[in-house]
Amino acid sequence: MALKRNQFGTGPNVSLFTLGTMRSNESLEQMYSVVKEACLTGINHLETAPAYGTSESLLGTTIKKLNSEGCRPEGGWVITSKILPGTGINEGKDQLQGILSRLGISKIHNLAIHGINLPEHLEWALKGDGDKLIKWATQKRLIGQIGFSSHGTFALIKKAIESRRFQFCSLHLHLLDQERLPLAKMALERKLGVMAISPADKGGHLHTPSKTLISDCYPISPLELAYRFLLSQGISTLTLGASKITDFQIAKKLISSNSPLSKSEQDIIGKLTQNSKERLGKTFCGQCRDCLPCPNEIPIPEILRLRNLCIGMDLNSFTKERYNLIGRAGHWWEKNNATACQNCGECLPKCPNNLNIPDLLKDTHRKLVDSPKKRLWG
Ligand code: SF4
Ligand code: SF4
Repeated sequence: MALKRNQFGTGPNVSLFTLGTMRSNESLEQMYSVVKEACLTGINHLETAPAYGTSESLLGTTIKKLNSEGCRPEGGWVITSKILPGTGINEGKDQLQGILSRLGISKIHNLAIHGINLPEHLEWALKGDGDKLIKWATQKRLIGQIGFSSHGTFALIKKAIESRRFQFCSLHLHLLDQERLPLAKMALERKLGVMAISPADKGGHLHTPSKTLISDCYPISPLELAYRFLLSQGISTLTLGASKITDFQIAKKLISSNSPLSKSEQDIIGKLTQNSKERLGKTFCGQCRDCLPCPNEIPIPEILRLRNLCIGMDLNSFTKERYNLIGRAGHWWEKNNATACQNCGECLPKCPNNLNIPDLLKDTHRKLVDSPKKRLWG
């Protein structure tokens, strides 16, 4: 059976899974075995970045070695790397040439502006030095197409999609956090490629799911269900941050599985949601966002979403990790945690579920506050 490939903007078509090389850069041996396994799995799309340590140079050496052994996907590898917004034109040129040199290629298929998190980042890409850099790189035939990733607001991501600057985007899209799914659909309708970032780790530490989640998803594994959900929505490709060859097991099974959800998959997703709501009872936050804005800029829905996942699905390590990033990751994350609540009561009449928001925020803080963990890029 022919492997499925999805359109990805104006670039070469990509496999339903993309190998993210953030976790395979400990040695050349590790990179080689992981990239080779990706090829054997049917993956043709590789994602890297200067910030992934030695990833680009190890990848460049690995691709050469695999090519010499005749191990390459049909049509060759498609590679995506990233630069950060805000650099001056000369610095940007140096960064791009560094990427090409480390990968050992003269042109990269996909270059993503990583972290269009603030309006000034988008301005940089549309009108500032970023615009100059993109025009220069296109004219010199150093890049195929340009994309972006974002931890910004819904409105900012929408503006970036509508700007016509980008041909693909990388978004946080998850079975357990579907807030950005409408943006992905909008991007797909506009023929942008859409890559889902880290459905396993950022999607709820689904590589190490709680017993509750395993039981709610039975007989499918939570990670397989999350992958199937995203693929059935037409998402172009899902990143897989493999560090060893056994990490490809589910991708091997689903490498061509982007059909609509089956009745049994739909039933399991329905049961998962229902069980979670029952565990939360009258404290379930429906994520409507009607409580915003809070005068103290507390991201109420985001904090209560973590509470939903902690109590409704027992996702303790994941929710603690995410909660403790608040205020500690610059523009990559929310600024204020639950302790900023002054009990002003402004949010209370706006909540259609009549939630006692200040009490629930305090409860969430008690449950989740912890010392911060090391954060991987993005
Ligand atoms: S009660 Fe707390 S969360 Fe609600 S609006 Fe006031 S400060 Fe914000
Ligand atoms: S208004 Fe209530 S239900 Fe809606 S997001 Fe805010 S807290 Fe949750």
